Amino acid sequence: MTAPAPEGRAIPFAHVALIGLGLIASSISHALRRAGFAGRITGTARSAETRRRAAELGLCEVFDTPAEAVAGADLVILCVPVGAMGAVAQEIAPALAEGAVVSDVGSVKGAVVAAVAPHLPPGVHFVPAHPLAGTEHSGPDAGFAALFDNRWCILTPLPDFDPDAVARLTAFWTALGAHVDEMEVARHDLVLAVTSHAPHLIAYTMVGVADHMRRVTKNEVIKYSAAGFRDFTRIAASDPTMWRDVFLNNKEATLEILGRFTEELFMLQRAIRMEDGPFLHEYFTRTRAIRRGIIEAGQDTAAPDFGRVVAEGRK
Ligand code: NAP
Repeated sequence: MTAPAPEGRAIPFAHVALIGLGLIASSISHALRRAGFAGRITGTARSAETRRRAAELGLCEVFDTPAEAVAGADLVILCVPVGAMGAVAQEIAPALAEGAVVSDVGSVKGAVVAAVAPHLPPGVHFVPAHPLAGTEHSGPDAGFAALFDNRWCILTPLPDFDPDAVARLTAFWTALGAHVDEMEVARHDLVLAVTSHAPHLIAYTMVGVADHMRRVTKNEVIKYSAAGFRDFTRIAASDPTMWRDVFLNNKEATLEILGRFTEELFMLQRAIRMEDGPFLHEYFTRTRAIRRGIIEAGQDTAAPDFGRVVAEGRK
């Protein structure tokens, strides 16, 4: 059965189950509603408090257990931290409907595939996915319908993938506003180590350095927090559980990129020490062009707040 959506963007699922009801799941729910999804949305979260709040917000029909939430669903999306995916897959496995598509939104793919795939019964189609969209906020109140608009959602189909399941999941994310691309699992984890994981670690480090300095300068770091520090460290407020899991589960790729980052940092450090102005100027000219390219590709705005205040206001 296919549930209708406006503007011809049909959503080829009739019952979507969301396991975990935080930022990403609540945004999926809002985006589904915005797309005119007329099917069922069910879900569950670990704590009674989150389940209560999700019900209050009307995000979905809320159940106490993952097994109850997935019963009869033709699309199940795991929206829990990467380190919790395996246990959740094991729990839902006996309750999955024959022919169901199981997907996830985890920021790491290799570890999720290894943790989830062994638990899924034959006749269920696993299509791992990662929407490249998020904010530093978490929980059921954090979601908004426009989160996925114009963002990439990367599917990493496994070697024995079912083309129909991949096509239906592509249609699903397209209806939620995303552009869909496909990538091989290991490639995804390396690309994301560069574009997301290492930058988060560096932002966390910079805040750690400022915290040390604060003890020396008594609050001046916070009080005079200039745009550089403020913008650069916004992501250091991101959820600690999610990011602990990302680094522990994308260890190799993150360490590879951090190694390269350290080499680059030493090079710049040396240029400053040697007062090599032309080198620094050429380097910053090159990086400015790359950063402008990101804005031109529509993946960010030139606005000082990255346009997020406006986007998050649109539920
Ligand atoms: P979130 O807002 O913190 O929500 C996580 C949800 O998972 C909560 O409902 C939580 O339930 C539940 N949960 C946590 N631990 C669990 C466990 N051990 N067993 C069962 N349920 C558990 O997180 P999120 O930002 O939506 O992230 C969810 C997934 O999306 C993660 O895999 C993350 O890597 C991925 N992702 C995140 C972003 C981002 O920027 N945030 C972007 C793309 C992808 P309780 O509230 O009851 O604890």
